[in-house]
Amino acid sequence: MFPISSNNFVNNPYTVDYNQQKYWLNTHSQPAYNTAYGYYEQPSVNNADTAAKTVVMAGVLEAVSLGLKKASNWFSNKLAAGKEFTSAENVHRVADEMVRKNNLDVHVGYINDSNKYAYSKYYNLGNQLEEVARGKNAFFTDELKLAVAPSNKPSLILHELGHAINSKNVITKFLQNTRRYAHNAPAALLFANALLSDKNDGKKSFIERNAGILGFAAFLPTIIEEGLASFRGVKAAKKVLNNPAGLNILKKNYLLALSTYIIAGLGLGVAAKYTMLENSVNK
Ligand SMILES: [Zn+2]
Repeated sequence: MFPISSNNFVNNPYTVDYNQQKYWLNTHSQPAYNTAYGYYEQPSVNNADTAAKTVVMAGVLEAVSLGLKKASNWFSNKLAAGKEFTSAENVHRVADEMVRKNNLDVHVGYINDSNKYAYSKYYNLGNQLEEVARGKNAFFTDELKLAVAPSNKPSLILHELGHAINSKNVITKFLQNTRRYAHNAPAALLFANALLSDKNDGKKSFIERNAGILGFAAFLPTIIEEGLASFRGVKAAKKVLNNPAGLNILKKNYLLALSTYIIAGLGLGVAAKYTMLENSVNK
């Protein structure tokens, strides 16, 4: 699915993209310290220098998180404004061929204002198709055996069918499933750190030192699976349409989509680092 919208498809978490907002630091919530006004509760550690560094670090992480959020929006808007690489008929042909060749047991739906209610009712999707009908979302769900894309942006379906193909392979299915748990990375790292680290030696543990990279790593399987889904879509388009001139447009659109995932991974890394830092202040 493309993370154009922040809509979360709650019932089928691994097919749908997590609500990316979850990963951004909530800069409106009050952390244990307040960098903006300079007041700061001295942690029990008697080290003002470390405390000051921590505040600066927290401020930097908040700024980075905000920057990532803005970058993600920029890519999403670019993607939403992206052109179609070929005619709708051609896209349908490629999609049909992907279903046929890979024996996909998946219904393909092109959603618009006139069929969205019928689909919603049949698949019990609530208002999940609103964004799709508006050209702002697409998704695949393995539970419902359904892949949908907007009627006016059908090329998104090729990526979704790429997910459908991925769901049939043990390894790529595993990558798909990790998505459900990725957002727990900051809390999981905190927990693991509390279990594993020796708090009395005064040194930072491996997890504390590498929280950022570990947080990003938790999202890496999702990024890889997303990239692979796009790769499958592009490959199918290339084959069926016999090297269409617009293939670069499709590649560009899919790269924009992938960028938002990479940014989300970085966001998760920042969130993990921040969570660890916050905890070290509260200790
Ligand atoms: Zn996707």
